[in-house]
This record gives sequence, structure tokens and C-alpha cells, in this order.
Amino acid sequence: MENCLFCKIISNEIPAYKIYEDDDFLAFLDISQTTKGHTLVIPKKHYRNIYDVDEDTVAKIHQLAFKLAKQITKKLNAQGVNILNNNEAIAGQTIFHYHVHIIPRYRDDDKISIVFNENIDSNIEETYHILK
Ligand code: 5GP
Ligand code: ZN
Repeated sequence: MENCLFCKIISNEIPAYKIYEDDDFLAFLDISQTTKGHTLVIPKKHYRNIYDVDEDTVAKIHQLAFKLAKQITKKLNAQGVNILNNNEAIAGQTIFHYHVHIIPRYRDDDKISIVFNENIDSNIEETYHILK
């Protein structure tokens, strides 16, 4: 898609450190390198995010992210890994080409923190009835 940064990485208009490529997917190092080895996995076909992408692509990208996460962990001697995906700006999406982050974690890494704070205003009972 025109003016999409990740589409330009796919077509080599913009360089990237590509660590995996096949006919349908690409994995490359995230420019931020939040932690050593921070990687993005993307489909070659342009989708905005999970509200746009098809189920088969989601299944395949996660299967690939799972494999790469284990390889990256091992090769970089990480102690763990976060696999995450942001959808829409409110959720932190800044590049609107569907992607999955692989973020290796190391003892004492201090560039990223994922904290689930308790929200005492949330009515879990009501939410349950909406969602069940
Ligand atoms: P999002 O915030 O949309 O989930 O993630 C977008 C990611 O793309 C960010 O982590 C950001 O560092 C990364 N990014 C932005 N521009 C570039 C770029 O030009 N090259 C690479 N390799 N990564 C980029
Ligand atoms: Zn794109």
C-alpha cells in the first residue's frame, strides 16, 4: 500500500535488518531495539490490524512468531520473551500495517515494562454478563 512504511520495507524501498523471509511473511529488527533482538513479524500483504486481517494469516503469523521467538531467545541468550500486537492508536499502534512484536527479555532490562495495574472502578460481574 502506498505510503505504508512496512510495505516499503517489503519492497526494499526502505532498508531493514531482515532476519526471516518467505513468500507471505517477513521478520526484521525493530528500529527501536527496545531490547536486544526486538523483532517485528509482518504479512507481506497489507492489512491495517486485527480488525482487517483474515484468520488464516493471524494463525500463520503467530505460528511463525512462536518459532522465531524461541530461536531469538536461544541465539541471544534471553531469559524470556514478550509477544505482542497493538491494534489502533488507543492501543499503541503507530504503524498501520498489521504486525507482531517479539521482544526478548533479559535480567535487569529497564527499557520496557508491562504492568497490569488493578482497576477498582471496573465491574467484573457486569463485564462477565456482557461477554459470556
Ligand atoms: P506499533 O507501535 O505500531 O505496535 O509498532 C511499530 C514499531 O515499528 C515501533 O516499535 C517502531 O520502533 C518500529 N518502526 C518504526 N519505524 C521503523 C523503521 O523505519 N524501521 C524499523 N525497522 N522499525 C520501525
Ligand atoms: Zn503496508
